[in-house]
Amino acid sequence: MRIVLLGPPGAGKGTQAKRITGAYNIPHLSTGDMLRAAASAETNIGKKVKETMASGKLVPDPLVLAAVIERIAQSDARHGFVLDGFPRTISQAVTFDDLLHTEGVELDRVIELHVDEEVLLDRIVTRAREAAQAGGAVRADDNHEALKVRIDAYREQTAPLIDYYRSRNVLKSVDGLRPVDSVTEQIFQIMERRQRAISNTVAEQAKSGRPG
Ligand code: AMP
Repeated sequence: MRIVLLGPPGAGKGTQAKRITGAYNIPHLSTGDMLRAAASAETNIGKKVKETMASGKLVPDPLVLAAVIERIAQSDARHGFVLDGFPRTISQAVTFDDLLHTEGVELDRVIELHVDEEVLLDRIVTRAREAAQAGGAVRADDNHEALKVRIDAYREQTAPLIDYYRSRNVLKSVDGLRPVDSVTEQIFQIMERRQRAISNTVAEQAKSGRPG
């Protein structure tokens, strides 16, 4: 199954993506992780990516698209994936749709984790504090200034994707403020319904002798 998780920073996309990966055995593709890996390279591009990410702004489309195209071509992603952090702009979504279309596949669901802006800052500041207390690394962009830029980028550039995918009948929204387990439960229900719909279509096609 091909799933996109959509939601502002701090909505819980990473946490939920890991749970989907565990339950459905499809890889978790996080463009944030891909770009953090690119940023750690001591190259000019790596340095530029690092700077952009630390500021909270979006990395230019060509770099992001190159990373996604390379990753989804790998064998573990052939039958499905859960994308976390991509697409983030309408132009990324259009390019991605074209790419999937060329491959003869489509997105099964885009799941929006809906969270009000006011709670996001709190959530991310808590995430940074907990990471620091546990002795882990704190993300360079988990600070107040970069966060505001990230939330603005979401509102201006990414939130329009909600209508984009709604008009394509693939969008489902869940309340991201519910407890983590409850959010996971809602996501699994959406995926199970989609899975059943696919199985029914395949069964009907088999009955009528039509190819899939
Ligand atoms: P994330 O880990 O998803 O919160 O992403 C961290 C940062 O990586 C973002 O603030 C952007 O700078 C960059 N980034 C991640 N995904 C994308 C994307 N699809 N397009 C542009 N920049 C991205």
